[in-house]
Amino acid sequence: MPKVPTDIEIATDAEIKPIKEIADKIGLTEEEWEPYGKHKAKISLSTLERLKETPDGKLILVTSINPTPAGEGKSTVTVGLGQALNRVGHKAVVALREPSLGPTMGIKGGASGGGYAQVIPMEDINLHFTGDIHAITTANNALAAFIDNHIFQGNECEIDARRIVWKRVVDLNDRALRNVVIGLGGSKQGVPREDGFNITVASEIMAIFCLAKDVADMRHRLAKIVVGYQADSTPITVADLGVEGALTLLLKDAIMPNLVQTLENTPAIIHGGPFANIAHGCNSLLATKMASKLGDYVVTEAGFGADLGAEKFLNIKARIGELDPKAVVIVATIRALKLHGGVDQAALKEENLKGLQAGMKNLKKHMETIEAFGLPFVIAINRFVTDTDSEVDYVTKWCEQHGAQVALTEVWEHGGAGGIDLAEKIVEITNDKSSHFQPLYDLEETIEDKIKMIARKVYGANGVQFTPQAKQQILEMTANGWDHLPICMAKTQYSLSDEPTLLGRPENFEITVRELRPSIGAGFLVALTGDVLTMPGLPKEPAALRMDVDEKGNALGLF
Ligand code: ADP
Repeated sequence: MPKVPTDIEIATDAEIKPIKEIADKIGLTEEEWEPYGKHKAKISLSTLERLKETPDGKLILVTSINPTPAGEGKSTVTVGLGQALNRVGHKAVVALREPSLGPTMGIKGGASGGGYAQVIPMEDINLHFTGDIHAITTANNALAAFIDNHIFQGNECEIDARRIVWKRVVDLNDRALRNVVIGLGGSKQGVPREDGFNITVASEIMAIFCLAKDVADMRHRLAKIVVGYQADSTPITVADLGVEGALTLLLKDAIMPNLVQTLENTPAIIHGGPFANIAHGCNSLLATKMASKLGDYVVTEAGFGADLGAEKFLNIKARIGELDPKAVVIVATIRALKLHGGVDQAALKEENLKGLQAGMKNLKKHMETIEAFGLPFVIAINRFVTDTDSEVDYVTKWCEQHGAQVALTEVWEHGGAGGIDLAEKIVEITNDKSSHFQPLYDLEETIEDKIKMIARKVYGANGVQFTPQAKQQILEMTANGWDHLPICMAKTQYSLSDEPTLLGRPENFEITVRELRPSIGAGFLVALTGDVLTMPGLPKEPAALRMDVDEKGNALGLF
């Protein structure tokens, strides 16, 4: 059997075009892009101004069923579908998130697609790329330094040092930094207090970066960040500290979306990468808008399953950005369906039609969710080489029996050629079926009602328990006038419920909201369920153990 090349081997062998050719292909003028090396570019925000009268390309959202820890292949299908749409004569542009170094060095691997459906140069994209995430880290930590200096210099804003909610960040999985004490060493070293680190992609600045409509809007949102409270619970914001200008300055280049290409030279805009548990999990609004002005189709993804990423894409990002999605791709893998049907993780590669049949209910729930948003969808079976023909036939027939469009998708193995059926079905569905997209709740509803609506409609829960702490926070948030913001649910990605081991389609359950956190700058309230980590840890054998550089300076071991 021939050796299957690794992602990095495929990416290194690809015929990568100079970035100018890609910029020319989507009609960018010389003034509208700046090269960042030979194969990456930053796109000026003035492009959006020039194209404001150009009709938007059709927006396609890629989501999935509840994933296994290895991922379902959403990024892979997003890239593959973009390539396939180009093969069938469209000018599609892909819009993706920037990978975080935490998962790259940790367990999951990068986020630049896989096999013959990747964005390149993948080693740059998965490592430091154009430095956007580092700029966000710096802006976040600059704010932390301004807060501590403010207290040290006399604390004019009367910030209660025990109620500072702004944490420092680093873009790595580093559990040892979750809880720290700072300011030790005597009166000249600052004011001692408990602090902690989040991973950068869980920072509110990352969420702001991804929801800002332009630089002025980003400054406005940064100014609204709540950093802590006074003793009487009055919130203190970045505007009170007067540093929103400095933070905006630190982000002024990062805010320009990044242009790269796929293995088949399809243009790809990769920008911003908020976590899909604590934040909304989608690439920047600016990148999505730009892609829809530059292509006739824009294919984008939202993190984790439809219960987390798609729900937040549709209720938060699309609402804030006034986006008009036309269709959704629900990615399903046979191995994840079997996992939902009770098959042991270790046996997922073996044929098991009974297990598969039992797991279809997870897919069914996500279909209902997308329908509830008024959107047409196509199910993409992301085929693995271990999937048997009988298993693929079973899923295909099941989808047809349930009146759903389905496409066997082999973009990992065959690139765009393996996604032609999916591309044709997407073109057909966006031509034939009109979308009636609407968010699931009105912003005017109470905080409790919005959360209950998501829990019932999207998770299939009977209801929601609010802990006494959460109830108190809801009262305070309402008193502060923050109750008309959308809700960003923080929940496990593995289950429709807030209990990660409840696979399939759990019934007769309630979810528990234990805490609410205001992300006023980003423009949402985070509702935390279960144990959601904002600073992950590394596994016993992190992916980093396989990484190296050869004598020519090439990256090795990046998946
Ligand atoms: P997601 O976006 O859902 O998290 P990714 O597209 O990042 O998932 O894929 C996760 C991993 O699985 C990647 O390493 C990718 O190469 C691999 N992968 C995806 N689809 C396939 C497939 N059909 N066969 C083999 N590996 C795949």
